[in-house]
Amino acid sequence: MNSDIEAINSAQPQPADNRTAECDPCVCWNCGCAEFEQLFQAGDFDSALNSYPIRRCRQCDLCYTGEVTDDELAAIYSRSYYGSEKAKFLSVIETLVKIGHHRQAKKILKLYHRQQSKPGTSGQAISVLDIGCGRALLLQEFDKLGADCLGIERSEFPGTGLHKIDIHVGALHDSELSDERFDIIILWHVLEHITGLGTLLEELPRHLNPDGLLVISVPNFLSWQSRFFRQHWFHLDLPRHVTHLDKNWLVKALASMGLETISHTTFTASQNIYGFMQSSLNKFISRKPNRLYKLLTQSQGQRDWTALAAWAMLAIPLMPFAVLEALISAISHQGATLTIYARKRDHDGQVAADTRGE
Ligand SMILES: [Zn+2]
Repeated sequence: MNSDIEAINSAQPQPADNRTAECDPCVCWNCGCAEFEQLFQAGDFDSALNSYPIRRCRQCDLCYTGEVTDDELAAIYSRSYYGSEKAKFLSVIETLVKIGHHRQAKKILKLYHRQQSKPGTSGQAISVLDIGCGRALLLQEFDKLGADCLGIERSEFPGTGLHKIDIHVGALHDSELSDERFDIIILWHVLEHITGLGTLLEELPRHLNPDGLLVISVPNFLSWQSRFFRQHWFHLDLPRHVTHLDKNWLVKALASMGLETISHTTFTASQNIYGFMQSSLNKFISRKPNRLYKLLTQSQGQRDWTALAAWAMLAIPLMPFAVLEALISAISHQGATLTIYARKRDHDGQVAADTRGE
């Protein structure tokens, strides 16, 4: 465990005492404080019509998107964000995404087994809860590895009937899940979308088994990519991303909920490499953000192959620089994505070893 994480784990920050921010677009999503430091202004990634302030709360230090309402967010989540059909990307990219998820599932299971105080005694399948599971791609890989899987998603998802994973449509605090506990809970690029951040984090320990593993992955707001590209950074993704998180804030927040961070990594190959390429195109080539990403995620019938080929020709030369940046930034703990592994503080098992790398 890194010494700085150890220090934060041992601290006991006070939980926010006012979590009524969900309906007020002008205050911090976490603590409701209206005092903030203005960091910068950034445009809507879907259209050039709106721009939003990125702020840091003076009370709880959370960085967040201001002046966006829950109603706006509900309208913004379009079918194209998730993919309107079975697949979201080109088939070759879908295959790479699937391989990435398979490796991720194996890695999480390996880490879970490594931190057990009494390994291999239960004989039961490992239960996995994926909150904000989207198309359940990660859960499908856990399922293949023998886990007992449940997903939670805010609304009915395109393609849900194409796999056998149970998906609960709603929220974690719904009554039918109130007594359930899981061996592994995953929030994979979910927290940055959540307006009721503190409320969700508070609920996690209750649903985690004593030897359980919590896995949280988010864009890393203090990464080199974020600092360099600022409003052009692909993973800023406004206004969908309402919070902008970093390691210190998350580790502190988890510690205040009785959760101990055991390791972290800032390297996820696909997200970090593509993030660098798309952010470079956003900053230096086009005023319309994410042109390549939008072409890659168009449904097949509507895909503009000429434009896609042109943007691909611009992006491919950036690949070596993107790979280099991803490797060096990860070694320096400044990579574009942050994945944190945590467990309950009273856990008496072995501390997991370093988990750097995808
Ligand atoms: Zn706050």
